[in-house]
Amino acid sequence: MIDFLVIGGGVAGIGAAAHLSELGSVVLLERETALGYHASGRSAAMFEEGYGPPAIKALSRASRSFFETPGAGRETYLSPRGLMLLGKAEERAGFEADLAEMDLQEISVEQAQARVPILNPDVVSYAAIHETATDIDTDRLMLEWTKVLRQAGGEVRLRQEVRAITRSAAGWRVDTGDAVYEARQIVNAAGAWADVVAAMADVAPVGIEPRRRSMAQLAAPAGLDVRDWPMLMGVNEGWYAKPQAGKLLVSPADADPVAPQDAWADDLVLATGLARYEEMVTAPVTRPEASWAGLRSFAPDGVPVMGAAPAAAGFWWYAGQGGYGFQSAPASARLLRDLVAGRTPEPESETVAALSPARFS
Ligand SMILES: Cc1cc2nc3c(=O)[nH]c(=O)nc-3n(C[C@H](O)[C@H](O)[C@H](O)COP(=O)(O)OP(=O)(O)OC[C@H]3O[C@@H](n4cnc5c(N)ncnc54)[C@H](O)[C@@H]3O)c2cc1C
Repeated sequence: MIDFLVIGGGVAGIGAAAHLSELGSVVLLERETALGYHASGRSAAMFEEGYGPPAIKALSRASRSFFETPGAGRETYLSPRGLMLLGKAEERAGFEADLAEMDLQEISVEQAQARVPILNPDVVSYAAIHETATDIDTDRLMLEWTKVLRQAGGEVRLRQEVRAITRSAAGWRVDTGDAVYEARQIVNAAGAWADVVAAMADVAPVGIEPRRRSMAQLAAPAGLDVRDWPMLMGVNEGWYAKPQAGKLLVSPADADPVAPQDAWADDLVLATGLARYEEMVTAPVTRPEASWAGLRSFAPDGVPVMGAAPAAAGFWWYAGQGGYGFQSAPASARLLRDLVAGRTPEPESETVAALSPARFS
C-alpha cells in the first residue's frame, strides 16, 4: 500500500512527490517516456514576481528564498535577466497599467537601446525595465526534486498512463493498464488533463482550460551577443522575446483554448507574434530554427487549484498553475505538503482560500 500516488510528472507532480516523501511512501506515475515532457519542458523559465493573480504573486514571493538559497551546498536556481517593457505611441495607457502592475521603472528609448541595440526608435516610444525578473534553472529544479524523492525511497514510474481510478477500502485503486496501484491518497498533478483525471475518480471537474502558447527560436539577431539582454515584452503581454542559450525565443503570447493534447505551434499564430516583435526592432526576422507550443492550464478564475477535493477524502487537487507553475513551485509544494499533513500552511489564510478547490463546490 502506497501512502501517496502522484499523477503527472511535470514540475507540479515532481515537486509534490518530493515534498510528500517527507510524510510517507510516494510513487509518481507519468504517461510519457520522460518527466517534463509537456508544459514543464516547454516554458520560458522566468521568475517575475509581479506576474499573475494575487495568490500567485504571494506564492512566487514565498518561493524566492528557496530559489536563491536552496540550501545544503546547492547553488541558486536564479540568474539575472531583467524585464523590459516596450510600447508604441498609441499604447501609453496600457504601458502605464503594466508599469504599475509589474513595478517597472520607465527609461528613455535611448537607454533601452543601450541595452538592446536593435530597438527601432521610430516605433518604440516608451520603455521601462526592472532587474528583479530572473531566469530559473528549471531542468535542475526538476532533477533535484527527483533526487530528493528517490533518496527518500520514492519512485518515478514512466510510461504509466492512468486509465481508471476507483475507491478501495483503504483509499484508491489506480489502473494503468499494465499495473494496478493501491494508495491511501492521490495527488492530481496532471496539468492539462487534471479534469480528465478527476472525472476518472468520480470527482467533480473544476473547469481546467488548457491554453496554447507558442514559441519560435531565432538565431541571434544581426549576429549580436544577446546573452545579457533582458526579456522584451509588448504592452499587455502582446508578445515577448527572450534570450536563451545565445538564441532568441519569440512568442506571440497566445492563449488559445485547446483540448488537452501534445501541443504544437500554429504557423499563422507564430507569424503574427513574429510580426509584432519585428515591428519593434531594426533586425529582420530570420527563418525560425525551431518552434513549439505548450499548454498553460487555467481554472475558470485563473487561480491554481490546490487542496483537498470536497467530498472525496484522499483526493488532492494540484493543478491550474497557468503561466506561473515554475516561479511559484517551491511555495506551492510546501503548501500542498502542509495541507496534507494537517499543519497550518505558510501562506496567509486568504491565499489558501483563494487556491482551495472548495471555491468551486
Ligand atoms: C510556452 C510556455 C511558457 C511558460 N513560461 C513560464 C515561465 O516563464 N515561468 C513559469 O513559472 N511558468 C511558465 N510556464 C508555465 C509552466 O510551464 C506550467 O505552469 C507548469 O509547467 C505546469 O506544470 P504541471 O506539472 O502542472 O504540468 P505538465 O508539465 O504539463 O505536467 C503534467 C503531466 O501529467 C501527465 N499526465 C496527464 N494525464 C496523465 C495520466 N492519465 N496518467 C499519467 N500521467 C498523466 C502528462 O503527461 C504531463 O507530463 C510556461 C508554460 C508554457 C507552455
